[in-house]
Amino acid sequence: GVSPATGLLAELDAEQRAAAEVESGPLMIVAGPGTGKTRTITHRIAHLVEERGVPASSCLAITFTRRAAAEMGERITALVGDRGREVTVATFHSLGLSIVRDNHAALGLPEDLALVDADRRHRILVSLTGDERRARQCVSALSRARRGGEVSGEVSGLLPDYTAALRREGLVDFDDLLVLPVELLRGDPELAEWYRRRYRWISVDEYQDVDEVQYRLLRLLAPAAANLTVIGDPDQAIYGFRGADVGFFLRFERDYPDAPVRALTRNYRSGRRIVEGAVRAIRPESLVPERALRPVGADSEHPIVLHRASDERAEARFVAGTIDGLLGGASFHSLDSGSAEGYETSSLGFGDIAVVYRTDAQSRVLAEELTRRGFPVQKRSHDPLWARAGVEPLLRELGYAGRRCGTVLRQLEQAAAAVAETLGEQAEQLHVAVELLSPLASRFGEDVAGFCREVMLGAEVDALDPRADAVSLLTLHAAKGLEYPVVFVTGCEDGLLPLRWPGEQRDDTAEERRLFFVGMTRAQRRLYLTRATRRGQAAGAGQRTPSPFLAELGDTAVRDGEEGGKRSAARQLSLL
Ligand code: ATP
Ligand code: MG
Repeated sequence: GVSPATGLLAELDAEQRAAAEVESGPLMIVAGPGTGKTRTITHRIAHLVEERGVPASSCLAITFTRRAAAEMGERITALVGDRGREVTVATFHSLGLSIVRDNHAALGLPEDLALVDADRRHRILVSLTGDERRARQCVSALSRARRGGEVSGEVSGLLPDYTAALRREGLVDFDDLLVLPVELLRGDPELAEWYRRRYRWISVDEYQDVDEVQYRLLRLLAPAAANLTVIGDPDQAIYGFRGADVGFFLRFERDYPDAPVRALTRNYRSGRRIVEGAVRAIRPESLVPERALRPVGADSEHPIVLHRASDERAEARFVAGTIDGLLGGASFHSLDSGSAEGYETSSLGFGDIAVVYRTDAQSRVLAEELTRRGFPVQKRSHDPLWARAGVEPLLRELGYAGRRCGTVLRQLEQAAAAVAETLGEQAEQLHVAVELLSPLASRFGEDVAGFCREVMLGAEVDALDPRADAVSLLTLHAAKGLEYPVVFVTGCEDGLLPLRWPGEQRDDTAEERRLFFVGMTRAQRRLYLTRATRRGQAAGAGQRTPSPFLAELGDTAVRDGEEGGKRSAARQLSLL
């Protein structure tokens, strides 16, 4: 019984509407890439507020990145007007920070508590261990201990002194942002109840990538009967390496036994052969039984294009040359001769193109080649923003409140000038950092504190400017949730995709396959999978064989140069 398409839900298809209009209680939406999960949840929230009388302030939407949160907030506001601003759109970390700030007194923290930066944390650890090297070594073990994991006695002995030192300076670290709210709500049932009443409607996008502490926080905020909607795709779970566990997604039906499960099967994003190829690539290790994904959107018949280059320089030249052709038009039109699509996509700009790769190290040669041709690029990884060289000194300089005034953007430039005086030859790093932060800064008007918080909580990819006329260079992890008319997945080689560090025993082929699946499904019209037969001078250099994932693609893919023509079975076999 799907109701007729009226109001806001008219912009959804029947499956999406059936998910969006579930009355109340827990709900799970399981669906593949490009099926409109994010769109459905955005419309569901707008529908609740606009057409069901739910107060916007009682809605909490949790997204995976700050950028996704900003976008979702904008879309909700576009759908329901100014009231949309009262919806809380957060990441787990920003939600945690707001709970910690609201309860700073109970936690023994000052009102102006701050997030510790890497430099200050290092100095605290040096003072505790008396040793630079040990200070560096214990950082990740401390984090594990803080989250309740197993660690050596030495590290667990250090933990109380470390937290005490943080608190003395009015500081919290990233783990605190999740662990403190969990401890707080567990220890104070009345407070937990207050938050449950405050956020009566909760939705979580990309639920397949929650980790244990996030899961525990969510259980406290949304017990079994709560209005909790989780949305995700187990086949896009790619953050296991950093503690996420797709098991929480898979056990949702046990945790919330009354929850209906809705599936979305229509892919609006990608051309037919891209969808078919991606489904073939994930199938051998898919976590979704009977995965259904039907292409209905882009009416593109283009096959996936495979390219084999002699080395990474040649691979970069192929990428740059292909982009040149797509944008320049000449070769593109001959390729598409006569088709209406040729004219449509000939208006492609640099911003329509993403080049993705498994490891950040691969981006250097790609960026060099694109820049050499005069193509603008924006390079983003999934690492935290503060980890990029130059960002922390800028934030510290900006932190001297009251010394400057004007827009954050202006103050950022002034801060850069001041830092440049003290740091001298690292000028290039500083320049890159300012470029990275500028699109974010322009969103914050004169709110320096808000900007600094955003930078501390954000990943590089959050500073991606979707309107920039530049080619996006992204790690596969950073590309999650995004879409581009043209995508190059580079480095499709065994050892790189799936990635194996030299000497590494851990077998993560399934997660690597999901990464490949995520990469492929970012493409709307054109997907290029490239590889090099030799790569690099470092350890593990030398002859490279194709990624085993390529072998699954069958006739959805062709070797480049063969897009137009027919291929014999023999040619198909030699494709790789
Ligand atoms: P991912 O798994 O990659 O995060 P997703 O399921 O969240 O994908 P969306 O990003 O919400 O998918 O949607 C993919 C694309 O399809 C977007 O461009 C979106 O606007 C479009 N789309 C989704 N649903 C519809 C629809 N009913 N009509 C038209 N376009 C749609
Ligand atoms: Mg999405």
